[in-house]
Amino acid sequence: DVRVRFCPSPTGTPHVGLIRTALFNWAYARHTGGKFIFRVEDTDAARDSEESFTQLLEAMRWLRLDWDEGVETGGPNEPYRQSQRYDIYRDVIAKLVESGHIYESFATGEEIAERNIKLGRDPKLGYDNYERDLTDEEKDAFRAEGRQPALRLKVPDTELSFDDLVRGEITFPAGSFSDFVVVRPNGHPLYPFVNPVDDALMGVTHVLRGEDLLSSTPRQIALYHALIDIGLTTFVPRFGHLPYVMGDKNKKLSKRDPESNLFLHRERGFIPEGLVNYLSLLGWSLTHDRDVFSIEEMIAAFDVVDVNPNPARFDLKKAESLNGDHIRLLEPADFAQRVVPYLAAAGVLSEPLSENQKAILTAAAPLVQERIALLGETPAMLGFLFQPADKLEHQADALASLPQNAGEILTAATLALRDIPEAEWTHERVHTTLTETLIDGLGLKPRVAFGPLRVAVSGRKISPPLFESMEILGKADSLARLDRLSA
Ligand code: GLU
Repeated sequence: DVRVRFCPSPTGTPHVGLIRTALFNWAYARHTGGKFIFRVEDTDAARDSEESFTQLLEAMRWLRLDWDEGVETGGPNEPYRQSQRYDIYRDVIAKLVESGHIYESFATGEEIAERNIKLGRDPKLGYDNYERDLTDEEKDAFRAEGRQPALRLKVPDTELSFDDLVRGEITFPAGSFSDFVVVRPNGHPLYPFVNPVDDALMGVTHVLRGEDLLSSTPRQIALYHALIDIGLTTFVPRFGHLPYVMGDKNKKLSKRDPESNLFLHRERGFIPEGLVNYLSLLGWSLTHDRDVFSIEEMIAAFDVVDVNPNPARFDLKKAESLNGDHIRLLEPADFAQRVVPYLAAAGVLSEPLSENQKAILTAAAPLVQERIALLGETPAMLGFLFQPADKLEHQADALASLPQNAGEILTAATLALRDIPEAEWTHERVHTTLTETLIDGLGLKPRVAFGPLRVAVSGRKISPPLFESMEILGKADSLARLDRLSA
């Protein structure tokens, strides 16, 4: 059975490349009916933070990427935070030392460089495994100097190859890397050790992760062979390295690029459906001719072997347009609800909403649902509906756009609209009345005739449909707005 994992280090705020990795692991588990494990690799006390951990949880929950085992949820392999697993690592380390797979090494970086110079080699060449067979006397002598050893894995002197699920056969010739440090002299186990150890203990079958980790894979496979030898596991997992996510100018998207910040997308009004759909396209596609699809469709079709090894470009414009498509797929009531936090954040209204505000929102939401790409666009579009007529702010560019005869137009409109009985105040009726009065009667062009009304009602040059807006506001409020601008 498939067992995949998402195992971020809690540093910084979640970025889109990382969450794309989570999504592909999740989709693969859901597609295969396997298990999705969420483990946190927090062994770097200097860089890890609780805040970042909380944000990772929040990001996963926001995007509805649920996990079967892991932090908070628990499961058969607890604990799921590496900072709580040191006893487990100590045990594995002891077994690997005992079986001779890892050994004590006292060499400092300086000594390794000096040794290379002395042997006429490039000082940057690195460690050449020369401490593999230190005698007990030699070790004692180092200890007598007050030195503590690091632990290194004895790497087999053979070529190492594996069949990458995304990239195909990858071979590292013998001698590509030397015996590497798995435990620091202070006893602290390192990523190249704890990551495969946990994968082995948790029965991970497929390691799907970013291309930046490709170079650590042969080392991890070497460690896997040692783990099999001591009976910790019986198999080496399959590996699949997901393509880089590129930003503008074909540069790798970095944590500093604003497009990489997941929560910034949420703040601007991406909905989970839209963002997940877009993230899925970073290296994968459902069909060549359809970009908009549901998460269920992704799950049904997703296989990691279909991932494209070429770098994927994060195209914000395309992401936004896809988000707009998903906004249009929402049930109107659902859409209206999702808009509320954005209106609240912009100070347009505060929660809980009054009955009147709810009614306005329900009536007005469909007018913008058709038009926007981001929920964050709604405060500017809907704000006027929640402002009392006497507090409405007219934007400077809107006022500047008024024609000379705006006063006349507003007066004529007001006189005609007054005659509509309150009970018959519908957008159709408002529309016909204004058309008869301003277009047919005064001979104005629609743009000239309705421009001042739009500014009076919404305070802006561009607004949701004018007559629908006036219906929502009602007769008294609409007329008060016309009055206020003509005054
Ligand atoms: N903690 C590692 C990282 O965030 C995990 C890498 C992996 O998936 O193996 O880079």
